[in-house]
Amino acid sequence: MNFLKFEFERPPIKNISEDLILDELEKVAKHFNYEYFSRKNFDELANIHSATVERHYGGSWSAAIKALEERLKCKNITYALNKRSPRNVSEEQILDELEKVAKHFNYECFSRKNYDELACIHSATVERHYDGSWSAAIKALEERLKHKNIILISSRRSGRNTSEKVMFDEMERIWVYLGHRPSKSEWLGADPKVSYDTIYRNFGGWTNACLKFIEYKSGGSVTIDNDIVEKTEKVIDVIKTDNPKKKEECNPKKLLKKTRTISLNIRIKVLSRDNFRCVFCGKSPATDIGTKLHVDHIIPFSKGGTNSIDNLQTLCEQCNLGKSDSVMQ
Ligand SMILES: [Zn+2]
Repeated sequence: MNFLKFEFERPPIKNISEDLILDELEKVAKHFNYEYFSRKNFDELANIHSATVERHYGGSWSAAIKALEERLKCKNITYALNKRSPRNVSEEQILDELEKVAKHFNYECFSRKNYDELACIHSATVERHYDGSWSAAIKALEERLKHKNIILISSRRSGRNTSEKVMFDEMERIWVYLGHRPSKSEWLGADPKVSYDTIYRNFGGWTNACLKFIEYKSGGSVTIDNDIVEKTEKVIDVIKTDNPKKKEECNPKKLLKKTRTISLNIRIKVLSRDNFRCVFCGKSPATDIGTKLHVDHIIPFSKGGTNSIDNLQTLCEQCNLGKSDSVMQ
């Protein structure tokens, strides 16, 4: 009986039989679900080098593949030589498989290896479908899941892909656990699922992240409705004028910066002062699900109102829309 020795070196190439070569080719073909594989693929998996195979077939790799096809034909297996159309697997089927595996892992990011252990379509096929990019396949999966309101949780490593929702959820968990806004060291000590650096990078600073979180918890985005109307008017003005200097002055982005944009910091101060409740009807996102809070100018900006805290108030979306541009006196 022979015992296999685990050695780095490959066996000497001198006395390699055709059978052995075909065994290797078949092994690799099987790994790729009997679909196209490259020489590079072969060399990664086989125990003999593709150059040896090629040499055996008079210097022709495609002759080797033909021999493999012949052998597989005898076993009633069709080797899908065509690189572009690996069987007729539709995108729909691929996404079904990806989703199945994602679901198995509770919608946490999984590796190709995880995938291949569970899926009926090989990862190489999936990758090929997405022009050789596994991450493009995962992106397509994320898109599909998004329509179902499911977020694929990225692994800790790939912080760049961590969605805002995941970061906010983690922020909430730790915040609630501590009972206050977490500091850096408290965050690190709370065994976070999302790293401090990831959050810092995503929001351009820790303070900003905390402020954004508060904004998120107060009903999503805190916006100022009548701003949007006025912005549109200004843009129309820009289109009307031909003077390039005036155009520059009226650049809506610049205008917005100069004028009515209320900084996040100020917005949070206003919300906090008003206890995250609409000052008219008392609704709060914490108690009335779906409530969106707006920070509103008491004296409209267009009528000379300023961005000082005294001129700002918290309104729910409904009250704010009802109020529109009338001055409250
Ligand atoms: Zn209200």
